[in-house]
Amino acid sequence: MTTASTGAALPLAHVLPTTAEVNAAGRLSVGGCDVRELADRFGTPLYIYDTATLRAQLRGYREAFTAAYPDSELVYASKAFLNRPFARFIASEGFGFDAVSAGEIATLKSADVDLGRVYLHGNNKTPDELRYAVENGVGRIVIDGEWEIELLERIAGELGRTQRVLVRVSPGIDGHTHEKTTTGILDSKFGLPIVTGAAERAIRAIVAAPHLEFRGIHMHLGSPIFEMEPYGQAIEVMAEFIDEVVRKQIGVEVPEFSPGGGFAVAYWGEQQAPAYAEYAAVIASTLQREGDARGFELPHITLEPGRSIVARAGLAVYTVGARKEVPGIRTYVSVDGGMADNPRVALYDSKYEAVLPDRPLDPPEELVTIAGKYCESGDILVKDIELPRLRAGELLAMPAAGAYQVAMESNYNLALRPAVVMVENGTARLIRRRQTFEDLGALDVDE
Ligand SMILES: *Cc1c(COP(=O)(O)O)cnc(C)c1O
Repeated sequence: MTTASTGAALPLAHVLPTTAEVNAAGRLSVGGCDVRELADRFGTPLYIYDTATLRAQLRGYREAFTAAYPDSELVYASKAFLNRPFARFIASEGFGFDAVSAGEIATLKSADVDLGRVYLHGNNKTPDELRYAVENGVGRIVIDGEWEIELLERIAGELGRTQRVLVRVSPGIDGHTHEKTTTGILDSKFGLPIVTGAAERAIRAIVAAPHLEFRGIHMHLGSPIFEMEPYGQAIEVMAEFIDEVVRKQIGVEVPEFSPGGGFAVAYWGEQQAPAYAEYAAVIASTLQREGDARGFELPHITLEPGRSIVARAGLAVYTVGARKEVPGIRTYVSVDGGMADNPRVALYDSKYEAVLPDRPLDPPEELVTIAGKYCESGDILVKDIELPRLRAGELLAMPAAGAYQVAMESNYNLALRPAVVMVENGTARLIRRRQTFEDLGALDVDE
């Protein structure tokens, strides 16, 4: 499937996978694979992940943080997208994992990932999840509430284990992102606030619990965070808490600290995301400054990028179908996917671009709205976009589709979940087949 590049400059190159180019046939190729050929072979909707883009993101993060703060570790936030082959790929690049459910841990386990490098998060981990995590040797459980401490202490005691834990502290800082994805403010279901005394009480309870080992503090501001100031401000708040409360009042050291994830990516034309080095610089310099001023040893830090590892690597590919013109109001063009594979637009009004893989260089001709095929008026993928006049049967691709799309998919309308392929050097590897009608009925119990 390898195709020569024409070298033509692609519009929207900064939101497409790094290997995206126009091939000799004048079509879009990714990872050396012609997108039209992939669509014919695997069907649409199709999710394509470009291996080179993923690898560059993974290595870019590691290099940027190692340079800025040598005692740093990178873990991939699994909830952005995970399955077994994908977990193996991420692990092969030296990343650990963030998990938020027993299902994610089970998937990582089935991929033979080192569970000692897994961090378990969640504001309401169930007793079964906590037991599963402890039994399987999950490296850190990130305590997110006071109830969890008693529960985990009892479970670890019953299993005769000592569980290492971090405490998720809410810094009370607004990351200036969508209200549904901000997590560091006081009015949030996540984290133990400092100002109410809950964070201090939690750490005291952990220190007193014989089967829990306090290792440090975690924070996560939400996602995506485009500004540097919230990280700087939140780390200052954390440093003060670590120094004044944890070290001086409770009397324990804090060997580990996680500033979380939430690093931004560009989804559309004029949108720009900060470079990894900018996040690394603000995190490292704030910690170094606070550590120097307060005289504490710098902690081991863990970064948890999810979206920014996978979003740009992913391309969602659909087939164009129906067209409906409402004169003077709007023209709807529908594709064969929508909110079942990408609920982000309906959830957060997320904005996307679209490109036409069959003729990526054609100039725009009209303003349209790209609709999905599902039975909700809110099933829109792109509102108001200038595109060439779309023809039924041609392909439409949406860039920056790698994060929180397949991961949030549903079988709404009993839609079949799409196939997922990874592409590199002209070869496509199917890492998840498309669902079948048999899969739809697989859980049904007839008698
Ligand atoms: C979701 C989440 C992340 C990852 O966020 P991204 O925007 O995907 O980078 C990291 N840490 C925690 C605790 C999370 O809940």
